[in-house]
Amino acid sequence: MLKTNGGETMTLQEIIPLPKLEQCKRLLCVQPHPDDNEIGAGATIAKLVHNGCEVVYLTVTDGRIGSNDPKIHPRQLAAIRRKETEASARLLGVSASFFLDFQDGSFISEQAVCRKITDVIREVQPEMVMTVDPFLPYETHYDHRTVGMATAGACMMASLPHFQGSQGDLPANSWSVAGVAFYNTAYPNTYINVDETWNLKFTAIAAHKSQFDEEYLKKVRMYFELKGEEYAKGRGFDRAEAFKVLPVTCLHVNVDAINL
Ligand SMILES: [Zn+2]
Repeated sequence: MLKTNGGETMTLQEIIPLPKLEQCKRLLCVQPHPDDNEIGAGATIAKLVHNGCEVVYLTVTDGRIGSNDPKIHPRQLAAIRRKETEASARLLGVSASFFLDFQDGSFISEQAVCRKITDVIREVQPEMVMTVDPFLPYETHYDHRTVGMATAGACMMASLPHFQGSQGDLPANSWSVAGVAFYNTAYPNTYINVDETWNLKFTAIAAHKSQFDEEYLKKVRMYFELKGEEYAKGRGFDRAEAFKVLPVTCLHVNVDAINL
């Protein structure tokens, strides 16, 4: 509890209200690789589209090293994964897809990615942005750490007209994002009831045929059934996806962000 100037007591959550993901009208989903959005948030994305939200995808790397098959050429795999991304996005009702085509696994530069994402934020003008949580303990995939951090940074910087995008010129169309929703998070504060779109999540994941054969998909589903139940427990529905949602104003010098 905190005391305001007027003497009344307020909770931290009352002073800093969280943006409401379910009421978002335009959402930009930034993924490091072609299948991350569906794995982390496929059922929520489908639900938001159903509720009238315009969802736009931004895929940062081309996914060229996502295979255990030494015979497949990385360029060939990247082309296959582009098609799979488009097919999966179509299944969920995504309205547009941007591709930055950074090379998967090439230790992409956070600054370069941040400027490119800033360009897309200023063009799409989303109310909220969704991405992987770069603060996930034990996350060792460089692309995930870099993209999560670059996206959060871009959300903060896109509103500053003197922050340069990738073209180097000063843009006139600065844009303020209200909030960020991190998936694959260890600190969830928002649980979305996805009972109606749960199956669609796995149909969309299955569209990534180069990544999921039937056997593997079965295992993945078993894991997500457990997590979906765990996140929904005690909330009056059967399956949930979990997010850490923060107002963009809390992405800088805010010691309480982790507790919100
Ligand atoms: Zn990934």
